[in-house]
Amino acid sequence: MTDGASRRPRVLLTNDDGVRSPGLRAAYEALSAVADVTVVAPTEQKSGASHTITLGQPLRAYALGEMPGYMVEYTPVDCVKLALDSLLPGRPDLVVSGINWGSNAGNLVHYSGTVGAAIEAALVGVPALAVSLACLRCPDFGPSARVTRVLAERVLARGLPAGTVLNVNVPARPWEELKGFRWCRQSLSRLQDDYERREDPRGVPYYWLSGSLDLQGEVPDDDATALSSGYVAVVPITIDWTHRELFGRGGADYLDGLGG
Ligand code: MN
Repeated sequence: MTDGASRRPRVLLTNDDGVRSPGLRAAYEALSAVADVTVVAPTEQKSGASHTITLGQPLRAYALGEMPGYMVEYTPVDCVKLALDSLLPGRPDLVVSGINWGSNAGNLVHYSGTVGAAIEAALVGVPALAVSLACLRCPDFGPSARVTRVLAERVLARGLPAGTVLNVNVPARPWEELKGFRWCRQSLSRLQDDYERREDPRGVPYYWLSGSLDLQGEVPDDDATALSSGYVAVVPITIDWTHRELFGRGGADYLDGLGG
């Protein structure tokens, strides 16, 4: 077939929970119905890796047996960068990161390796989805896999503005009990950080981050509110960290009298 418009779309699938994660497998199966999917995912659990890249040591890629693709040592962003540069035969039409086990709503985007991988795709001009099941202990990825497929088809058909990622969080409910999709802004509610102090068998103290990651919504149109109301929360996020309003004020608030 020479008609490029009729070929199956190509999707790069990655995550931050590691290549053995059931969320990755669920996304692979759902997306394979509509696209040629190549998996490039971390060998180990890398949640919280955000946009970490590995410098100063070799990256090794091992071919997978059960799915087409590779597992790569180290981080989700390493996976995307290496996939786009070296492992894939061509540029994918879409990068999907997930399905993460646990919420990446609100300010969790700043820590999330799931979101980091999707942002890396956006940085090089490939549309991307980050998808998370907003429950750390819920094993059923069926509804979130269906959500992943639906939104992947939308983005493949309609594209995304340059530098944009859709950050998608799915409440842990059966498909029939999802209330629908809601276009949201990122919740800015504070995380409940709490480090539990324990002692190791030799009596030396250590600390374990144990705070709740259940965010409370603050305004009606934020993602945390949508999730707690039973909606799939879709937040358009961007690689551009410029504060638009402050930029628009021209800098006089801080730079007056400094020249320039
Ligand atoms: Mn994770």
